[in-house]
Amino acid sequence: MGSLQLKSVRKSFGPVDVLKGIDLEVKDGEFVIFVGPSGCGKSTLLRIIAGLEDATSGNILIDGAEVSAVPPAKRGIAMVFQSYALYPHLTVRDNMGIGLKQAGAPKAQIEERIKKASAMLSLGPYLDRRPAELSGGQRQRVAIGRAIVREPKLFLFDEPLSNLDAALRVNTRLEIARLHRELKATMIYVTHDQVEAMTLADKIVVLDAGVIQQVGSPMELYNRPANLFVAGFIGSPA
Ligand code: ADP
Ligand code: MG
Repeated sequence: MGSLQLKSVRKSFGPVDVLKGIDLEVKDGEFVIFVGPSGCGKSTLLRIIAGLEDATSGNILIDGAEVSAVPPAKRGIAMVFQSYALYPHLTVRDNMGIGLKQAGAPKAQIEERIKKASAMLSLGPYLDRRPAELSGGQRQRVAIGRAIVREPKLFLFDEPLSNLDAALRVNTRLEIARLHRELKATMIYVTHDQVEAMTLADKIVVLDAGVIQQVGSPMELYNRPANLFVAGFIGSPA
């Protein structure tokens, strides 16, 4: 299970209205992409879903239950950041296991889940290394592994490939698509890369100026963009 509903979600920073009423339904198991220009509020929206930021008003429901008052660690969500956010002094194994350890999970369960996630991500040989001894692509796989071991209902990815070079971007994108099939998890993924959006998404959400401009499948948006902004962003013929 991992459905999400956003109802009239608003966010202001001081006088600046960043999100002006976001309504969205994400079904269990869906792969949803958020696209939109830099500064339009994509990261803020992910952080609000994750509980790292409070909405100014509105409702956030996970599997039908309001989570606005639920702390981040209890929401069943794992977030993967562009900057990896790994602990430099911890090994790959401990970076992957730390969340479970802090949550008080039994050692054997932590080991079992790390074994499974590292096999999925081909990280087995690197478990005793530290982040400085890994390539950028390997570091991002560790960050993804850390999310997987928590077995979240909902994965949030914030531009996870933007620090990788072009070849690694393709590989990691295919890997994320495979994980989505294997884990059957709900994934919400922010990118400004049209190829990522068109190839990964069940559903694309186009954001601009604090509102959702259009929601639809890649083909719907391509064939029937709601306005010139969407057409420009998706690359449809005008
Ligand atoms: P995106 O991820 O789409 O590039 P962000 O969600 O990071 O956009 O930011 C949206 C807007 O909110 C930007 O104008 C940004 O400057 C502003 N913003 C984000 N976080 C804060 C904050 N903590 N305090 C003030 N303004 C913020
Ligand atoms: Mg951002």
